[in-house]
Amino acid sequence: MFDEKKIQEIKLWLDASSNIVIVAHKSPDGDSLGSSLALKHYLTEIGHSAQICHPDRMPDFYNWLPGSDSILTFDEDKINVKKALSEAEIIFCLDFNHVSRVGDMENLLSEAQAKKVMIDHHQDPDTGFFDMTFSFPKISSTCELIFDFIESLGDVELINETIGTAIYCGIMTDTGSFRFPSTTARTHRIIAKLIDNGVKNHSIHENTFDTNSINQIKLNGFALSEKLTILEQYGVAYIALTQKELNHYDAGKGDTEGLVNKALSITGVRMAVFFKEDEGYVKISFRSKGNVYVNQLAKKHFGGGGHMYASGGKFTGSVQAAIDKFVTCIPEYVNT
Ligand code: 5GP
Ligand code: MN
Repeated sequence: MFDEKKIQEIKLWLDASSNIVIVAHKSPDGDSLGSSLALKHYLTEIGHSAQICHPDRMPDFYNWLPGSDSILTFDEDKINVKKALSEAEIIFCLDFNHVSRVGDMENLLSEAQAKKVMIDHHQDPDTGFFDMTFSFPKISSTCELIFDFIESLGDVELINETIGTAIYCGIMTDTGSFRFPSTTARTHRIIAKLIDNGVKNHSIHENTFDTNSINQIKLNGFALSEKLTILEQYGVAYIALTQKELNHYDAGKGDTEGLVNKALSITGVRMAVFFKEDEGYVKISFRSKGNVYVNQLAKKHFGGGGHMYASGGKFTGSVQAAIDKFVTCIPEYVNT
């Protein structure tokens, strides 16, 4: 799947480089973390070293991922991230395809002299920004692409438990535990190979999904029982949480992860939206199924984007104003 010529070129670039940096999008998720760590561990395995630099910190519930304590984040360590990016000879850009997705690191990444290699599965890549692009929007996850990348380099047998665990995590989270339409027979064959190579699949599910705090469960319960609105005529469900409500449950990063999917699981709902108030803006998560696609809605009206069935965006203003704007947009995207 990966172009042979490009792979040969990458091999030459790797042989000539000693400073390799791995960057991914802001608000880390299982796929951005898994792909970053899998690539780092693989590069180490073939005799290189690589520094992961992310824009911001991951949710704590991913801290079991092997090597996650080695990640530098721009929000916590600007000096060292700046140094790493400016000294880098190759920068792998994973799980994003537009420089704006790295948030406050955008200028540093733009100014970096390194060769920039994108490996990603989002639509509409900004190919002009990167020196080499591996863009496959139909593939489930960047982690699946990292598997393909390593295989293309002829090193599939080097995928050990450490590399495999990181790859498994990203495929699992980006496919909603192997259920979204992006999950193919090949996805399952890759997963089988990872398990053959020592990955403890059950532990990864437990570590990711069974480490909720009581507050987190209560916050989710509150959101579903008190803050869920259903617009039956459109098959739309949405949940909105203010900062006050989030603070009441002492919500941390990632504590509302998966909530929007609960709303999408209601019979008859084809689009679910989660509004989360942050400092000065509202972060919005869109999910859909069937013939309803949310990426254009996120892009056109909320300055964001993403995949057909899973996108995100932002709104500057109050939660209620964000909801009002969203409600006026619905008829354009949902056939009644
Ligand atoms: P989430 O709702 O989990 O934050 O994001 C869902 C999907 O939309 C992810 O694939 C993510 O990459 C994408 N996404 C989230 N926020 C943004 C955004 O502000 N801009 C763009 N282009 N994509 C986003
Ligand atoms: Mn992804």
